[in-house]
Amino acid sequence: MFDVSGLVRKNIAALEPYSSLRDGLETLQGTVLLDANENPFDNGSNRYPDPFQRRLKEKLSGIRGVPASRIFIGNGSDEIIDLCFRIFCEPGQDRAVGMLPSFSMYKVSAQVNDVEYEGVPLDGDFGLSVEAMLKAASAGRGAKLMFVCSPNNPTGNSVPEEQLKMLAEGFRGILVIDEAYIDFSSRKSFLQYLDMYPNVIVLQTLSKAWGMAGLRLGVAFASEEIISLFNKVKHPYNVPSASVEEALRFIGRDVNKEIGLMVSERERMVSALDSLSGVLRVYPSDADFLLVRVEDPDGLCNEMLRNNVLIQNRSHSSGTPGCVRISIGTEEQDDLVLDIAGRFYGEKSSRSMPAGKNQPLRQATACRKTSETGIRVSLDLDNSGVTYINTGIGFFDHMLDQIARHSGISLRITAAGDLYVDEHHLVEDVAITLGTAIRKALGDKRGLARYGFALPMDDCRAMVLIDFSGRIDFEWKVDFTREMLGGIHTEMFRHFFKSLCESMQCNLHVEASGDNNHHLAESVFKAFARAFGQAVRRNVNDNAIPSSKGGLD
Ligand SMILES: *Cc1c(COP(=O)(O)O)cnc(C)c1O
Repeated sequence: MFDVSGLVRKNIAALEPYSSLRDGLETLQGTVLLDANENPFDNGSNRYPDPFQRRLKEKLSGIRGVPASRIFIGNGSDEIIDLCFRIFCEPGQDRAVGMLPSFSMYKVSAQVNDVEYEGVPLDGDFGLSVEAMLKAASAGRGAKLMFVCSPNNPTGNSVPEEQLKMLAEGFRGILVIDEAYIDFSSRKSFLQYLDMYPNVIVLQTLSKAWGMAGLRLGVAFASEEIISLFNKVKHPYNVPSASVEEALRFIGRDVNKEIGLMVSERERMVSALDSLSGVLRVYPSDADFLLVRVEDPDGLCNEMLRNNVLIQNRSHSSGTPGCVRISIGTEEQDDLVLDIAGRFYGEKSSRSMPAGKNQPLRQATACRKTSETGIRVSLDLDNSGVTYINTGIGFFDHMLDQIARHSGISLRITAAGDLYVDEHHLVEDVAITLGTAIRKALGDKRGLARYGFALPMDDCRAMVLIDFSGRIDFEWKVDFTREMLGGIHTEMFRHFFKSLCESMQCNLHVEASGDNNHHLAESVFKAFARAFGQAVRRNVNDNAIPSSKGGLD
């Protein structure tokens, strides 16, 4: 049988805790409070807070399904981590173990309390070895505490449930499972097994997914014995009443919506970062950050800082060589990170067309908002790699993606519109906005190759001729035999290119033939991409405007 009292420091076991007459009262309402030397004039904060935060615990109990008697609330999880050392570890004697790399506060807290802390290295994919953890824990006098962070900070991956159980069963001391990021993960919390393991403390926090980092509220779930030890040792009024009031107010909102947005941003960032040339590895994450192994991490972090963006450089910490940790932000913030990183690596990358000495960056963003649609296009004509397209029509996304990939530009398109009517407005407005962004990015067309042409492809032949002459002429010789293709009327392809041509202000001639309608559409987009890619290339050595007239507009 597990007996927690055998692990508690002697001075703590013998401790007579600070107590207040109020602790024994069910409610203070109607009671004349002349016991604590407070200012009697009510201003909302003149009274000491409830030392046990009963209302907040009831709320959390309802959400997490754990009785309030088994919940402790600390001044952040940081306080709870510190309490673990103060309750269980004799300074200068006892030991604690954890994973390496992991959250740095475990070690900091250990050092503050003069406790030896050993980080057990994770494997190459940041997987944990139960055997190595238990072996480290049983060395010497045997560890009193073991910290397992899942999902782990800074690696983002989770420790499988089976391994957590093996640790809980095999370890003789107190196992602290830190679930600070559990709400971003599709895995279940270990709370469901709390009854089976009296030596386990599950830590959660309201700082991350719940969005209350400023309120300093950490939560521990454990046996009643362990909770009463926390209560005995903590400062009597460790959590301010204002924090509890704010938390009760915030906890009622729909936090799942925010979590859903962050998780989908995370997935977008995984693939967008993955396609950058300087990014060597994006580690899978169950949390609201990504650990990314990159070329020149110091340079990247400096470049971010120069642009007023802070990310965490982990490349000099043990266990994460060459890595940076990037928190997931809003869509705009993440776009900024992608822009800066794309430019940073793009300029060094062999895939990109370097800008000549006096050649400006050719990046542009165009937005179009009407009562029918809202479109945002941003692109970089000189860097490939960052592609994100979401119009709500899968097939159209696929076609636009062909443009980005086969022309070697970075392209981001988000579009929303009245698809319940049909796709007409959306397709047309994407074309117009894309054309506008291209025209903006081309600027005065100095150094421009200007012309483009293309080649036959697969079973279909597609020819796209383009000239950025500044004059508009559109020719289209493509016959589709089907009316619909992947949710788009095939007549919309002509309309798309016509609108794009007018918006870009160029000559565009498209001719294609073939049997398979999907291939036919795709070959047109690919051939366009090739022709376009050639035409927008810039001659690094010749910065002239490519026209005997001296102007192209
Ligand atoms: C952020 C974080 C915490 C939160 O600590 P608070 O003091 O509650 O803000 C705890 N554990 C890990 C692993 C974290 O990353």
